[in-house]
Amino acid sequence: MPNDRDDHGAILVWFRNDLRIADNPALRHAADSGRPVICLYIFDETPGVRPMGAASLWWLDKSLKSLDESLEKLGNKLMLRRGVAAEVLDEVLRQTGATGVLWNRLYDKASTDRDMAIKTRLRAAGIDCQSFNASLLTEPWEIKNGAGQPYKVFTPYWQAAREHLTDVVVEDAPKSLRSLGHLPSSERLADWRLNPTKPDWSKGFDLWTPGEAGALARLDDFLSGSVSGYGEKRDLPGVEATSRLSPHLHFGEIGPRQVWLAAREAQAPRGEIDKFLSELGWREFNHAILFHWPDLPARNFKPEFDGFPWARDDAAFKAWTRGQTGYPIVDAGMRELWATGFMHNRVRMIVASFLIKHLLIDWREGEAWFWDTLVDADLANNAGNWQWVAGSGADASPYFRIFNPIAQGEKFDPRGTYVRRWVPELAGVPDDVIHKPWTRPLHLPAAAKRLYSRPIVEHDHARARALEAYHSL
Ligand code: FAD
Repeated sequence: MPNDRDDHGAILVWFRNDLRIADNPALRHAADSGRPVICLYIFDETPGVRPMGAASLWWLDKSLKSLDESLEKLGNKLMLRRGVAAEVLDEVLRQTGATGVLWNRLYDKASTDRDMAIKTRLRAAGIDCQSFNASLLTEPWEIKNGAGQPYKVFTPYWQAAREHLTDVVVEDAPKSLRSLGHLPSSERLADWRLNPTKPDWSKGFDLWTPGEAGALARLDDFLSGSVSGYGEKRDLPGVEATSRLSPHLHFGEIGPRQVWLAAREAQAPRGEIDKFLSELGWREFNHAILFHWPDLPARNFKPEFDGFPWARDDAAFKAWTRGQTGYPIVDAGMRELWATGFMHNRVRMIVASFLIKHLLIDWREGEAWFWDTLVDADLANNAGNWQWVAGSGADASPYFRIFNPIAQGEKFDPRGTYVRRWVPELAGVPDDVIHKPWTRPLHLPAAAKRLYSRPIVEHDHARARALEAYHSL
């Protein structure tokens, strides 16, 4: 590379939730400049940025290792620093003399506030600072209704968004990345202690392969297999019929443009592909809602819910988190979550409805538990979906539609496959009572007998109480 290009100084690429080398516009831009590239990940401690939950930290550890390996193959490496992002950037710029900083955008308020402040300050100091879109199909501000307002309802939103998606393009990974001769020291990933110890609850997380290669393999697997029955089977938790791409998408190990293009080229019925893509649409919608209503994780989207008479019931909340409510489908979901960092979407709806409506516990408590335990914990999707179930969100399910956990189990897990997998003490229970074991005398282990002879709250009573609370608003 000619030396005169070096005169412009190195470019720093600040990685965040875009832990991949393909379809990464910030990285591509840096590579194309021909200048030395510094790849930096900051374990950010900026006040106001929500710290990651424990399951996310587990994922991050592996994802960063994988990104570092990919960068090494390109002749570069990942620098790790911990601290307040603005201060860390200043320090690395000082140490390297880099004259440009690039990143891919995030859309929650704490991140946009932080990034705007950094951009303004760095530009004033003569540093070339640019940001790109790597994590959404459309920018949240692009899709507006006829009155120029953001959409609050999914169907017209998605219709309008799709019209913007006629020329989706994916950028290849760079073939090589010049590195700086003397890279300042990096912190050691192991010193960040991202993995759980005492106890190590992550033993069941081995179903995951965090990192870009794992994400691409999962997409490939899904598009050459289960996508064909997606529409019908995606609601059945006992069948592995969905993509399980959510943590990969959250950490940006794969981008939605890559998923979009690959899905459109897949050999599968159009209706199935469209249904799958519309789920990506919900992801876009939630991010747009969070961008325009930044308080979404903390406040009801519909303020009429602000006076809701939530109950304070620590024992019930604990039973819910531990999968000990006495309702097999709820318990199976909460145990799947604890064991694997994931829960099937249908069951997420059932357990969330149970917490909010059967136990009258504030959706924010459930949101916080999911935040800590999900490997795909995502501010927009988590808050958006919790508020959807609570009835307080944008285009939400009406509050009075209260899921009956027995009927939901019977409909979506008719043979009890899912329940038996996660609540093995019910393995011997016949299919017709697997979702209501207390209705028949059964030979169960003692602990299971206690738990499944009487659920923590009786359904009809809970339903009536939930409706009463709603009408009191
Ligand atoms: P697929 O069915 O294969 O869908 C493909 C992709 O579309 C997903 O990977 C995801 O990115 C997106 N998607 C699917 N369903 C939804 C949805 N309802 N809302 C937004 N995007 C969706 N998803 C998260 O990514 N992070 C969360 O923190 C999260 N919290 C949730 C909390 C509750 C109470 C509920 C009901 C749902 C939540 N979801 C969340 C949405 C959904 O459950 C997961 O995205 C989905 O189960 C992931 O599995 P999958 O990748 O196999 O999905």
